[in-house]
Amino acid sequence: MMETNPAWTDKLKIAILTCAIVLAACLLGILSRSMGHLAGLWPANALLLGMLVRFPQLSKLYGWLGAILGYLASGLLTGISWQDSLLISAGNLVCVITGYMLFSWLGEEHRRLKHPLSVLYLALVAFFSAAVAGVVGAIADPLLTNDIPLKGWIFWSVTELVNLVAILPVMLSLPDITKFRINRRRPIDVYRLKIGKVLPVVTLLFSFVLGILVGGPGALTFPIPALLWCALSYDIFTASLLTLLYSAWVLISMSLGYIPISIVNMNSRPMLLSIRLGVSLLALAPLTVASVMAAREDLLRHLEYIAEHDQLTTLLNRRAFYDRALRLLTRLAGQKRPVAVLMLDIDKFKNVNDTHGHAGGDRVLLAFAHIASAALRDVDILGRIGGEEFAAILPGCGRDEAERIAQRIRNSLANKIIDLAEGQEISVTVSIGFTFVHQAVPDIEALLVVADKALYRAKENGRNRVESDNFDDVGAST
Ligand code: GH3
Ligand code: MG
Ligand code: MG
Repeated sequence: MMETNPAWTDKLKIAILTCAIVLAACLLGILSRSMGHLAGLWPANALLLGMLVRFPQLSKLYGWLGAILGYLASGLLTGISWQDSLLISAGNLVCVITGYMLFSWLGEEHRRLKHPLSVLYLALVAFFSAAVAGVVGAIADPLLTNDIPLKGWIFWSVTELVNLVAILPVMLSLPDITKFRINRRRPIDVYRLKIGKVLPVVTLLFSFVLGILVGGPGALTFPIPALLWCALSYDIFTASLLTLLYSAWVLISMSLGYIPISIVNMNSRPMLLSIRLGVSLLALAPLTVASVMAAREDLLRHLEYIAEHDQLTTLLNRRAFYDRALRLLTRLAGQKRPVAVLMLDIDKFKNVNDTHGHAGGDRVLLAFAHIASAALRDVDILGRIGGEEFAAILPGCGRDEAERIAQRIRNSLANKIIDLAEGQEISVTVSIGFTFVHQAVPDIEALLVVADKALYRAKENGRNRVESDNFDDVGAST
């Protein structure tokens, strides 16, 4: 695919947007310091890194320039000297660049946290990026606190690590808004939503309260079982968001003294380090469960697809066709609506195989599947129920409309020159038999028997034809 070059106005918009987000995140970080050291949040790097990984169109010169401006502006706006601002901005940028490069080596599956090992890789990326960010601490801290550079490095790295581990998963699993569609066909079942979906998050909130009531360092782990339950119950984005909530809850409530701990100086550096590191490591557990579940979901969806579709034509296979047909017929019967059922069989197909080989025959089957799918409506169901035999359910169709659709398929195939490999071409025809009934019956086998009899007649009468029978006339006797 050719990459289009955005207009300069779009480039400017992207730069301004990136700048605004980075600036807002930095200001939030600076503001959060007033809540105590432990609450000290620095979301800017994790947010920017997540944005760049999820939306690669931002990772252009103008996007990076916007980010640099955001970092510098936040320092200058809050009265930090320009030298310090430059140093801190450089540290933040190097952290984001490191993370971005590391993520670019990982596959898409890992970047979307959809592999059982994704969280391990995420932790490694966060660890190395945080270690790079810590270099600023190693330089800046000795100047501010007279501590040795190693202490500054550890403290800054761990702080960055908490932010990366907490925020990155939310960004990486952010749902694709462009693909988001409301499913009108499946109304939300409010009762099931209440019981099944809300209980894990209610338990999580309850465990937060329990932590405050009981107190002590152990309170830090109280929400873990509920978080694991959430990870098993919700999609990875929701689970990541709840894990972020957990990290924020621990850091803020301990910092503000909501969770009573009999430790004199909560905001001492060793205590901050211990709790920040502990929270980052604990958060990995629910995230791992969530990504294992996401990988499992994808695998199940893939297996379900394979189990239901014919490998050659990708149409529904016999079993899936029968299942879906029965479901559709039951619904139509309930609504007392008409239905037509088609049986389609390619004419003299053995000859195609004999003349052009099995591979040639396969190409004909594939071409037919395309033609039949294109000629049917979106609401129809088409399946490959045997070698060169297909069936279709046409909901709401009476005799005339079914005849029109069947003729459309027959005509399209007869007029199609199918390209076989090595310059050979072929034309084939199809015979179609169908049955129609003014009030659907939930019995796919009976309908197919009648359609098959009509198909037999179409073959007898010379092939490349459409024949039909009214189910009410013939069906009762079968
Ligand atoms: P008719 O007009 O009476 O339907 O004649 P026909 O030759 O199509 O008759 P029949 O239904 O007996 O032949 C079906 C042939 O389809 C036999 C089988 O070798 C071939 N076939 C079945 N499955 C496949 C497949 O997956 N690929 C290919 N290439 N051929 C297949
Ligand atoms: Mg056949
Ligand atoms: Mg045939």
